[in-house]
Amino acid sequence: MKISHRAEQIVPSPTIGMATRAKQMQREGIDVISFAVGEPDFPTPEHICAAAGEAMAAGHTKYTPASGIPELKEAIVYSSQQQLGINYDSNQVCVCNGGKHALMNIWQVLVDPGDEVIIFAPYWVSYAAQIKLVGGQPVPVVTAGTDEFQPDLDEVRAAVTDRTVAILINSPSNPTGAVWGREILEGLAQIALSNDLAIISDEVYKHLIYDGGQHLSPAMLSDEVKHSTIIVDAVSKPYSMTGWRIGWLIGPADFVAKAGSIQSQQTSNPNSIAQYAALAALTGPQDCVPQMRAQFQQRRDYLVPALQQIPGLACTTPAGAFYVFPDVSAYLGTELAGQPIQDSLQLSEYLLVEGHISTVPGSAFGAEGYVRLSFACSMDNLQEGVRRLGQALTT
Ligand code: PLP
Repeated sequence: MKISHRAEQIVPSPTIGMATRAKQMQREGIDVISFAVGEPDFPTPEHICAAAGEAMAAGHTKYTPASGIPELKEAIVYSSQQQLGINYDSNQVCVCNGGKHALMNIWQVLVDPGDEVIIFAPYWVSYAAQIKLVGGQPVPVVTAGTDEFQPDLDEVRAAVTDRTVAILINSPSNPTGAVWGREILEGLAQIALSNDLAIISDEVYKHLIYDGGQHLSPAMLSDEVKHSTIIVDAVSKPYSMTGWRIGWLIGPADFVAKAGSIQSQQTSNPNSIAQYAALAALTGPQDCVPQMRAQFQQRRDYLVPALQQIPGLACTTPAGAFYVFPDVSAYLGTELAGQPIQDSLQLSEYLLVEGHISTVPGSAFGAEGYVRLSFACSMDNLQEGVRRLGQALTT
Protein backbone atom coordinates (compact mmCIF):
# COMPACT_ATOMS: atom_id res chain seq x y z
CA MET A 1 0.00 0.00 0.00
CA LYS A 2 1.21 3.52 -0.74
CA ILE A 3 2.83 5.45 2.11
CA SER A 4 2.89 9.25 1.82
CA HIS A 5 6.15 11.21 1.77
CA ARG A 6 4.88 12.88 4.93
CA ALA A 7 4.60 9.58 6.77
CA GLU A 8 7.87 8.21 5.35
CA GLN A 9 9.97 10.88 7.07
CA ILE A 10 8.53 10.28 10.55
CA VAL A 11 10.06 7.71 12.88
CA PRO A 12 8.48 6.70 16.21
CA SER A 13 9.47 8.80 19.22
CA PRO A 14 12.80 7.37 20.47
CA THR A 15 12.00 8.23 24.08
CA ILE A 16 8.83 6.15 23.97
CA GLY A 17 10.83 3.51 22.02
CA MET A 18 13.48 3.15 24.75
CA ALA A 19 10.87 3.02 27.53
CA THR A 20 8.96 0.34 25.58
CA ARG A 21 12.12 -1.75 25.11
CA ALA A 22 12.89 -1.54 28.81
CA LYS A 23 9.31 -2.68 29.61
CA GLN A 24 9.66 -5.57 27.13
CA MET A 25 12.90 -6.71 28.84
CA GLN A 26 11.16 -6.41 32.22
CA ARG A 27 8.30 -8.61 30.91
CA GLU A 28 10.96 -11.16 29.94
CA GLY A 29 12.00 -11.21 33.59
CA ILE A 30 15.11 -9.01 33.19
CA ASP A 31 15.53 -6.53 36.00
CA VAL A 32 15.94 -3.29 34.00
CA ILE A 33 16.08 0.09 35.70
CA SER A 34 14.42 2.69 33.54
CA PHE A 35 15.95 6.11 33.34
CA ALA A 36 14.11 6.64 30.05
CA VAL A 37 10.61 7.58 31.17
CA GLY A 38 9.31 11.10 30.74
CA GLU A 39 6.55 11.01 33.31
CA PRO A 40 6.25 11.43 37.08
CA ASP A 41 6.20 8.08 38.92
CA PHE A 42 3.54 9.29 41.41
CA PRO A 43 -0.12 8.30 41.16
CA THR A 44 -2.59 10.98 40.05
CA PRO A 45 -3.82 12.59 43.31
CA GLU A 46 -6.99 11.03 44.69
CA HIS A 47 -9.20 14.12 44.56
CA ILE A 48 -8.52 14.39 40.81
CA CYS A 49 -9.45 10.76 40.19
CA ALA A 50 -12.57 11.25 42.35
CA ALA A 51 -13.60 14.23 40.20
CA ALA A 52 -13.44 11.99 37.11
CA GLY A 53 -15.78 9.50 38.81
CA GLU A 54 -18.15 12.30 39.75
CA ALA A 55 -18.10 13.62 36.18
CA MET A 56 -19.14 10.22 34.86
CA ALA A 57 -21.89 9.91 37.50
CA ALA A 58 -23.13 13.38 36.55
CA GLY A 59 -23.39 12.32 32.90
CA HIS A 60 -20.48 14.36 31.53
CA THR A 61 -19.87 11.63 29.01
CA LYS A 62 -20.91 13.38 25.81
CA TYR A 63 -19.30 15.72 23.31
CA THR A 64 -18.20 19.03 24.78
CA PRO A 65 -17.38 22.21 22.85
CA ALA A 66 -14.46 21.20 20.57
CA SER A 67 -12.00 23.58 22.23
CA GLY A 68 -12.96 22.56 25.78
CA ILE A 69 -15.56 23.17 28.48
CA PRO A 70 -15.95 26.82 29.56
CA GLU A 71 -15.29 25.97 33.24
CA LEU A 72 -11.86 24.52 32.39
CA LYS A 73 -10.97 27.48 30.16
CA GLU A 74 -11.90 29.81 33.00
CA ALA A 75 -9.77 27.79 35.44
CA ILE A 76 -6.82 28.04 33.02
CA VAL A 77 -7.36 31.82 32.75
CA TYR A 78 -7.51 32.05 36.56
CA SER A 79 -4.37 29.97 37.12
CA SER A 80 -2.46 32.01 34.49
CA GLN A 81 -3.45 35.10 36.42
CA GLN A 82 -2.43 33.58 39.75
CA GLN A 83 0.80 31.90 38.64
CA LEU A 84 2.10 34.23 35.94
CA GLY A 85 0.25 37.45 36.69
CA ILE A 86 -1.01 37.54 33.08
CA ASN A 87 -4.62 38.29 32.14
CA TYR A 88 -6.31 36.37 29.34
CA ASP A 89 -9.93 35.89 28.27
CA SER A 90 -11.31 32.41 27.96
CA ASN A 91 -11.58 32.84 24.17
CA GLN A 92 -7.76 32.91 24.22
CA VAL A 93 -7.62 29.29 25.44
CA CYS A 94 -7.97 26.08 23.44
CA VAL A 95 -7.98 22.85 25.49
CA CYS A 96 -6.28 20.01 23.61
CA ASN A 97 -5.40 16.32 23.94
CA GLY A 98 -2.22 17.00 25.92
CA GLY A 99 0.56 19.51 25.43
CA LYS A 100 1.81 17.55 22.42
CA HIS A 101 -1.47 18.03 20.62
CA ALA A 102 -1.52 21.72 21.54
CA LEU A 103 1.87 22.05 19.79
CA MET A 104 0.62 20.15 16.74
CA ASN A 105 -2.37 22.51 16.51
CA ILE A 106 0.01 25.47 16.65
CA TRP A 107 2.13 24.22 13.75
CA GLN A 108 -0.98 23.62 11.68
CA VAL A 109 -2.16 27.18 12.21
CA LEU A 110 1.27 28.81 11.87
CA VAL A 111 3.43 26.94 9.39
CA ASP A 112 3.14 26.80 5.60
CA PRO A 113 5.31 24.41 3.59
CA GLY A 114 8.89 25.71 3.56
CA ASP A 115 8.42 27.95 6.60
CA GLU A 116 11.16 27.73 9.22
CA VAL A 117 10.91 27.48 12.99
CA ILE A 118 13.97 28.13 15.17
CA ILE A 119 14.33 25.47 17.86
CA PHE A 120 17.15 24.97 20.34
CA ALA A 121 19.21 21.79 20.37
CA PRO A 122 19.16 19.71 22.51
CA TYR A 123 15.41 19.78 21.79
CA TRP A 124 12.47 17.65 22.86
CA VAL A 125 12.14 14.85 20.30
CA SER A 126 8.71 15.75 18.94
CA TYR A 127 9.42 19.37 17.98
CA ALA A 128 11.37 18.60 14.83
CA ALA A 129 9.09 15.73 13.79
CA GLN A 130 5.91 17.77 14.24
CA ILE A 131 7.24 20.78 12.31
CA LYS A 132 8.25 18.46 9.45
CA LEU A 133 4.80 16.84 9.48
CA VAL A 134 3.24 20.14 8.40
CA GLY A 135 5.90 20.70 5.73
CA GLY A 136 7.95 23.13 7.81
CA GLN A 137 11.66 23.21 8.45
CA PRO A 138 13.00 23.03 12.01
CA VAL A 139 16.18 25.14 12.26
CA PRO A 140 18.20 24.06 15.31
CA VAL A 141 20.43 26.54 17.13
CA VAL A 142 22.86 24.48 19.18
CA THR A 143 23.43 25.08 22.90
CA ALA A 144 26.10 23.28 24.95
CA GLY A 145 26.46 21.85 28.43
CA THR A 146 29.59 23.93 28.93
CA ASP A 147 27.36 27.06 28.63
CA GLU A 148 24.65 25.51 30.83
CA PHE A 149 22.60 25.08 27.62
CA GLN A 150 22.03 28.85 27.26
CA PRO A 151 21.72 30.12 23.67
CA ASP A 152 24.05 32.58 21.99
CA LEU A 153 21.80 35.40 20.78
CA ASP A 154 24.08 36.20 17.83
CA GLU A 155 23.63 32.64 16.60
CA VAL A 156 19.87 33.05 16.91
CA ARG A 157 19.99 36.28 14.89
CA ALA A 158 22.08 34.53 12.25
CA ALA A 159 19.53 31.71 12.01
CA VAL A 160 16.64 34.05 11.09
CA THR A 161 15.79 34.08 7.37
CA ASP A 162 12.88 35.49 5.40
CA ARG A 163 11.16 32.09 5.84
CA THR A 164 11.37 32.10 9.65
CA VAL A 165 7.94 32.29 11.30
CA ALA A 166 8.61 31.43 14.95
CA ILE A 167 11.08 30.81 17.76
CA LEU A 168 10.28 27.91 20.06
CA ILE A 169 11.31 28.25 23.71
CA ASN A 170 11.17 25.39 26.23
CA SER A 171 12.13 26.56 29.72
CA PRO A 172 12.49 24.47 31.87
CA SER A 173 13.82 22.23 29.14
CA ASN A 174 13.39 18.62 28.28
CA PRO A 175 16.03 17.13 27.94
CA THR A 176 18.54 19.47 29.63
CA GLY A 177 16.57 20.81 32.61
CA ALA A 178 17.95 24.29 31.78
CA VAL A 179 15.89 27.26 32.93
CA TRP A 180 16.45 30.47 30.99
CA GLY A 181 16.55 33.79 32.82
CA ARG A 182 15.14 37.20 32.01
CA GLU A 183 18.13 38.41 30.01
CA ILE A 184 17.97 35.54 27.53
CA LEU A 185 14.19 35.68 27.23
CA GLU A 186 14.33 39.43 26.62
CA GLY A 187 17.02 38.94 23.98
CA LEU A 188 14.97 36.26 22.22
CA ALA A 189 11.80 38.35 22.47
CA GLN A 190 13.64 41.30 20.93
CA ILE A 191 14.74 39.15 17.99
CA ALA A 192 11.18 37.83 17.59
CA LEU A 193 9.57 41.29 17.70
CA SER A 194 12.02 42.89 15.30
CA ASN A 195 11.52 40.09 12.77
CA ASP A 196 7.76 39.72 13.28
CA LEU A 197 8.07 36.14 14.56
CA ALA A 198 5.73 34.26 16.86
CA ILE A 199 7.17 33.01 20.16
CA ILE A 200 5.98 29.54 21.05
CA SER A 201 6.64 28.93 24.74
CA ASP A 202 6.37 25.33 25.90
CA GLU A 203 5.93 25.64 29.67
CA VAL A 204 4.85 22.11 30.60
CA TYR A 205 7.61 21.89 33.26
CA LYS A 206 6.97 25.34 34.76
CA HIS A 207 6.03 23.91 38.17
CA LEU A 208 9.25 21.90 38.38
CA ILE A 209 11.87 24.55 39.10
CA TYR A 210 14.19 23.80 42.01
CA ASP A 211 15.95 25.74 44.76
CA GLY A 212 13.00 28.15 45.04
CA GLY A 213 13.44 29.43 41.45
CA GLN A 214 10.45 31.17 39.85
CA HIS A 215 9.11 30.48 36.40
CA LEU A 216 9.35 33.30 33.86
CA SER A 217 7.22 33.14 30.73
CA PRO A 218 8.12 35.36 27.76
CA ALA A 219 4.47 36.50 27.91
CA MET A 220 5.29 38.11 31.28
CA LEU A 221 7.92 40.43 29.78
CA SER A 222 5.60 43.07 28.27
CA ASP A 223 2.19 43.39 26.60
CA GLU A 224 3.89 43.57 23.22
CA VAL A 225 5.72 40.26 23.80
CA LYS A 226 2.55 38.69 25.22
CA HIS A 227 0.69 39.52 21.97
CA SER A 228 3.34 37.61 20.00
CA THR A 229 3.47 34.62 22.36
CA ILE A 230 1.54 31.37 22.40
CA ILE A 231 1.94 29.40 25.63
CA VAL A 232 1.67 25.61 25.71
CA ASP A 233 0.92 23.96 29.03
CA ALA A 234 -0.65 20.77 30.40
CA VAL A 235 -1.74 19.03 33.58
CA SER A 236 0.43 16.05 32.57
CA LYS A 237 3.62 16.75 34.54
CA PRO A 238 2.63 18.87 37.59
CA TYR A 239 -0.32 16.69 38.57
CA SER A 240 1.09 13.37 37.36
CA MET A 241 -1.68 13.11 34.75
CA THR A 242 0.24 12.03 31.65
CA GLY A 243 -2.34 9.41 30.65
CA TRP A 244 -5.33 11.74 30.93
CA ARG A 245 -4.22 13.74 27.90
CA ILE A 246 -5.21 17.30 28.76
CA GLY A 247 -3.11 20.28 27.72
CA TRP A 248 -3.86 23.68 26.23
CA LEU A 249 -2.58 26.63 24.27
CA ILE A 250 -3.11 30.27 25.19
CA GLY A 251 -2.52 33.17 22.84
CA PRO A 252 -4.12 35.81 20.62
CA ALA A 253 -7.86 35.11 20.20
CA ASP A 254 -7.82 34.92 16.38
CA PHE A 255 -4.95 32.40 16.42
CA VAL A 256 -6.65 30.33 19.11
CA ALA A 257 -9.95 30.34 17.18
CA LYS A 258 -8.13 28.81 14.19
CA ALA A 259 -6.60 26.14 16.42
CA GLY A 260 -10.11 25.40 17.73
CA SER A 261 -11.48 25.09 14.17
CA ILE A 262 -8.72 22.67 13.20
CA GLN A 263 -9.31 20.65 16.35
CA SER A 264 -13.07 20.57 15.67
CA GLN A 265 -12.31 18.89 12.32
CA GLN A 266 -9.50 16.60 13.47
CA THR A 267 -10.30 15.26 16.91
CA SER A 268 -13.35 17.10 18.32
CA ASN A 269 -13.14 17.78 22.04
CA PRO A 270 -10.52 16.31 24.38
CA ASN A 271 -11.96 13.52 26.54
CA SER A 272 -14.89 14.99 28.51
CA ILE A 273 -14.16 13.11 31.76
CA ALA A 274 -10.47 14.04 31.66
CA GLN A 275 -11.45 17.70 31.23
CA TYR A 276 -13.38 17.55 34.51
CA ALA A 277 -10.40 15.84 36.17
CA ALA A 278 -8.14 18.64 34.86
CA LEU A 279 -10.62 21.18 36.25
CA ALA A 280 -10.30 19.55 39.68
CA ALA A 281 -6.50 19.58 39.32
CA LEU A 282 -6.42 23.33 38.65
CA THR A 283 -9.10 24.39 41.13
CA GLY A 284 -8.56 21.83 43.94
CA PRO A 285 -5.87 21.65 46.65
CA GLN A 286 -2.45 22.47 45.22
CA ASP A 287 -0.19 20.90 47.88
CA CYS A 288 0.46 17.85 45.64
CA VAL A 289 2.51 20.08 43.30
CA PRO A 290 5.15 21.30 45.81
CA GLN A 291 5.19 17.83 47.38
CA MET A 292 6.15 16.20 44.08
CA ARG A 293 8.61 19.00 43.34
CA ALA A 294 10.32 18.46 46.71
CA GLN A 295 10.73 14.76 45.96
CA PHE A 296 12.18 15.47 42.53
CA GLN A 297 14.60 17.97 44.01
CA GLN A 298 15.74 15.41 46.60
CA ARG A 299 16.43 12.91 43.82
CA ARG A 300 18.25 15.48 41.68
CA ASP A 301 20.39 16.46 44.65
CA TYR A 302 21.39 12.83 45.08
CA LEU A 303 21.81 12.03 41.38
CA VAL A 304 23.98 14.87 40.07
CA PRO A 305 26.87 14.53 42.57
CA ALA A 306 26.66 10.73 42.23
CA LEU A 307 27.02 11.00 38.43
CA GLN A 308 29.85 13.49 38.79
CA GLN A 309 31.76 10.78 40.68
CA ILE A 310 31.81 8.57 37.57
CA PRO A 311 35.07 9.22 35.70
CA GLY A 312 34.53 10.75 32.26
CA LEU A 313 30.92 11.79 32.85
CA ALA A 314 30.36 15.58 32.89
CA CYS A 315 27.00 16.56 34.33
CA THR A 316 25.52 20.04 34.82
CA THR A 317 22.88 20.52 37.52
CA PRO A 318 19.42 20.91 35.98
CA ALA A 319 17.52 23.88 37.44
CA GLY A 320 14.18 22.36 36.44
CA ALA A 321 12.23 19.42 34.92
CA PHE A 322 13.21 15.85 35.92
CA TYR A 323 16.09 15.02 33.59
CA VAL A 324 19.86 15.14 33.69
CA PHE A 325 21.75 15.34 30.43
CA PRO A 326 25.36 14.31 31.07
CA ASP A 327 28.08 14.74 28.47
CA VAL A 328 29.32 11.24 27.61
CA SER A 329 31.62 12.23 24.77
CA ALA A 330 34.64 10.88 26.71
CA TYR A 331 33.29 7.34 26.08
CA LEU A 332 32.63 7.73 22.37
CA GLY A 333 35.27 6.27 20.10
CA THR A 334 36.34 3.87 22.87
CA GLU A 335 35.48 0.28 23.79
CA LEU A 336 33.41 -0.80 26.77
CA ALA A 337 33.55 -4.48 27.81
CA GLY A 338 35.22 -5.15 24.46
CA GLN A 339 32.44 -3.45 22.47
CA PRO A 340 33.16 -0.46 20.25
CA ILE A 341 31.08 2.59 21.23
CA GLN A 342 30.90 5.09 18.39
CA ASP A 343 27.93 7.26 19.31
CA SER A 344 25.32 7.93 21.98
CA LEU A 345 22.91 5.41 20.43
CA GLN A 346 25.49 2.63 20.73
CA LEU A 347 26.22 3.73 24.28
CA SER A 348 22.51 3.63 25.23
CA GLU A 349 22.18 0.18 23.59
CA TYR A 350 25.21 -1.04 25.50
CA LEU A 351 23.90 0.33 28.81
CA LEU A 352 20.57 -1.39 28.22
CA VAL A 353 21.87 -4.78 27.14
CA GLU A 354 24.95 -5.04 29.39
CA GLY A 355 24.09 -2.73 32.28
CA HIS A 356 20.30 -3.24 32.37
CA ILE A 357 19.66 0.50 32.58
CA SER A 358 17.62 2.31 29.96
CA THR A 359 18.61 5.83 28.92
CA VAL A 360 17.83 7.90 25.82
CA PRO A 361 20.70 8.73 23.44
CA GLY A 362 21.43 12.43 22.98
CA SER A 363 21.15 12.01 19.20
CA ALA A 364 17.36 11.66 19.69
CA PHE A 365 17.41 15.28 20.92
CA GLY A 366 19.70 16.57 18.18
CA ALA A 367 22.70 16.46 20.57
CA GLU A 368 25.28 13.75 19.91
CA GLY A 369 27.68 13.17 22.81
CA TYR A 370 25.05 13.16 25.57
CA VAL A 371 22.51 10.77 27.08
CA ARG A 372 19.34 11.68 28.93
CA LEU A 373 18.49 10.15 32.29
CA SER A 374 15.11 10.79 33.89
CA PHE A 375 14.97 10.94 37.67
CA ALA A 376 11.24 10.23 37.72
CA CYS A 377 11.92 6.97 39.55
CA SER A 378 12.29 5.90 43.18
CA MET A 379 15.40 6.74 45.21
CA ASP A 380 16.17 3.00 45.48
CA ASN A 381 16.10 2.67 41.70
CA LEU A 382 18.23 5.77 41.30
CA GLN A 383 20.88 4.41 43.65
CA GLU A 384 20.95 1.00 42.03
CA GLY A 385 20.87 2.60 38.56
CA VAL A 386 23.86 4.82 39.34
CA ARG A 387 25.75 1.79 40.67
CA ARG A 388 25.08 -0.12 37.45
CA LEU A 389 25.96 2.88 35.31
CA GLY A 390 29.28 3.35 37.08
CA GLN A 391 30.05 -0.34 36.69
CA ALA A 392 29.08 -0.46 33.00
CA LEU A 393 31.13 2.64 32.19
CA THR A 394 34.27 1.51 33.97
CA THR A 395 34.59 -2.03 32.59
N1 PLP B 1 6.61 19.42 25.85
C1 PLP B 1 7.65 18.81 26.43
C2 PLP B 1 8.94 19.55 26.53
C3 PLP B 1 7.53 17.51 26.93
O1 PLP B 1 8.57 16.91 27.53
C4 PLP B 1 6.29 16.85 26.80
C5 PLP B 1 6.14 15.47 27.26
O2 PLP B 1 7.06 14.74 27.53
C6 PLP B 1 5.24 17.53 26.19
C7 PLP B 1 5.43 18.82 25.71
C8 PLP B 1 3.91 16.89 25.97
O3 PLP B 1 3.17 16.75 27.12
P1 PLP B 1 1.80 15.97 27.10
O4 PLP B 1 2.03 14.65 27.74
O5 PLP B 1 0.86 16.86 27.88
O6 PLP B 1 1.35 15.83 25.69
